[in-house]
Amino acid sequence: MRTHFAPFTDLEDIEQAPCGTWLGEVPELSGDWAEVDCLLCQKRKDRIIAAAADEERFIVEQMGDMAAFMRAQG
Ligand SMILES: [Zn+2]
Repeated sequence: MRTHFAPFTDLEDIEQAPCGTWLGEVPELSGDWAEVDCLLCQKRKDRIIAAAADEERFIVEQMGDMAAFMRAQG
């Protein structure tokens, strides 16, 4: 079984690795590229990192919106 890369902290409801592979009952996932031996993940490394960075930006933006909303409410 291959170890896939997973940038997420919440691994509970991951059904698919970032490379597109469907995961089994006990998914082998790691946030450490040194432990990732899935060739697809390694091949898409740059894209996966870019996507994770995008997601992070989006979450930070959303939290900023939420903070502004709370301030407006208060
Ligand atoms: Zn993979």
